[in-house]
Amino acid sequence: MTYPHTQLLIDNQWVDAASGKTLDVLNPATGLVIGKVAHAGKDDLDRALAAAQKGFDTWRFLPANERAQIMRKAGGLVRERADEIARLVTQENGKPLPEARLEVLAAADIIEWFADEARRVYGRIVPSRNLAVQSLVVKEPVGPVAAFTPWNFPVNQVVRKLGAALAAGCSFLVKAPEETPASPAALLKAFVDAGLPAGVVGLVFGDPAEISGYLIPHPVIRKITFTGSTPVGKQLAALAGKHMKRATMELGGHAPVIVAEDADLALAVKAAGGAKFRNAGQVCISPTRFLVHNSLKDEFTQLMVKHAQSLKLGDGLADGTTLGPLANARRLDAMAKVVEDAQAKGAKVATGGERVGTSGNFFAPTILADVPLDASVFNDEPFGPVAAIRGFDTLEEAIAESNRLPYGLSAYAYTRSIKNAHLLSQRVETGMLWINQPATPTPEMPFGGVKDSGYGSEGGPEAVEAYLNTKSVVITAA
Ligand code: NAD
Repeated sequence: MTYPHTQLLIDNQWVDAASGKTLDVLNPATGLVIGKVAHAGKDDLDRALAAAQKGFDTWRFLPANERAQIMRKAGGLVRERADEIARLVTQENGKPLPEARLEVLAAADIIEWFADEARRVYGRIVPSRNLAVQSLVVKEPVGPVAAFTPWNFPVNQVVRKLGAALAAGCSFLVKAPEETPASPAALLKAFVDAGLPAGVVGLVFGDPAEISGYLIPHPVIRKITFTGSTPVGKQLAALAGKHMKRATMELGGHAPVIVAEDADLALAVKAAGGAKFRNAGQVCISPTRFLVHNSLKDEFTQLMVKHAQSLKLGDGLADGTTLGPLANARRLDAMAKVVEDAQAKGAKVATGGERVGTSGNFFAPTILADVPLDASVFNDEPFGPVAAIRGFDTLEEAIAESNRLPYGLSAYAYTRSIKNAHLLSQRVETGMLWINQPATPTPEMPFGGVKDSGYGSEGGPEAVEAYLNTKSVVITAA
């Protein structure tokens, strides 16, 4: 299996860092080094910034339909290369190949949707108070964007930001994850191959704090967008605020799953159980706090255990694997601590709970039952293959628990009652609520959180709006 050496993309050229410095890339299924990625220094960043300014000056003045054509072509190339890119995702991130393929195909869909949206960046004409005057509201791209994306969806975390930024007419410089660099590089290669003018996209890797500390205050950068943990997001948002830069923050979540007394239990297990173990639970919208009506709790727990035990843990490239390794060793340590803490506080490990094997980052799919509220798994985002279950008696109680934490990214509920569905849609503090189904984050729907889960949206027309300035132009006939 070949895995490429990943370089920086500056001014449409693939280059090593000026210093020649690199970082190792590991395969999480084996723990072995599979490749290297270039580590950018200040000189490389300066060249990338100059290219981003040049790219912006070109791209913003290209008619929207021409921008859309290039984006659509790039989307087509991503679709054509889906198998090849998916293999890179699996090798560097660990997720099963079919999941990786879905991620890449979803990326093509997102690019195509934003390409079409580029043609719909409308301003408006406001009725004037004087007939000799024309009052226009004009939308303009905000400027070169600095993006920071994580390793859990190496392609899609880039593409939601990239699609919206390019549709708006911005250039885009991304620091993609050092742990999963080859698949975001393959994504950007599709844009270069599709004929994107030089400098419109740039790709760097290196020391995350050093790069964000340099790019965010830099006068070329006009907007920042980050996906990652809440603590890092707060630091970057504060820096953006200090330098008066627009910001979009997609941060952590801790999604409640409310299984009401009248729920379709089989549906709840199939939908929420399936979603729980997708990407080994390393998903910001992963269902994490299972709140189950006490009359259903034991049966729900048993069915979840059966589901967890039916998963096939293994190398994501192997046929039949349905659960891959964790993406890095940090998550393995975090999962061990989460389980130990829950057990010490009185939770039962209904299945799993430990590392599997001694090579690779494999952790058994885990169901924790009767989890007390003070267990860390019910407070801090677990970000791993662990489902924590506790019972409730009234829906009010479940809603209060859903809203107890500072997070507010996604939430799920299972109920056959329209009355419950209305109540939940009004009362759960969340950016996204899915009822009687798993998450379906399509590009046409807003995607984002509230409270400590961040601000801004990466779906729907709102996503493009985040990359636009509004200008008032009032013209009097002279
Ligand atoms: P982390 O908090 O150090 O890093 C999270 C991401 O932010 C990484 O991609 C990292 O490269 C980046 N990052 C860290 N410091 C940065 C900085 N100063 N400037 C710019 N980027 C920076 O921890 P981690 O071990 O990689 O992940 C742990 C936690 O992060 C998880 O438990 C989860 O809560 C969160 N996370 C969330 C998402 C998401 O989709 N929202 C994705 C990955 C990780």
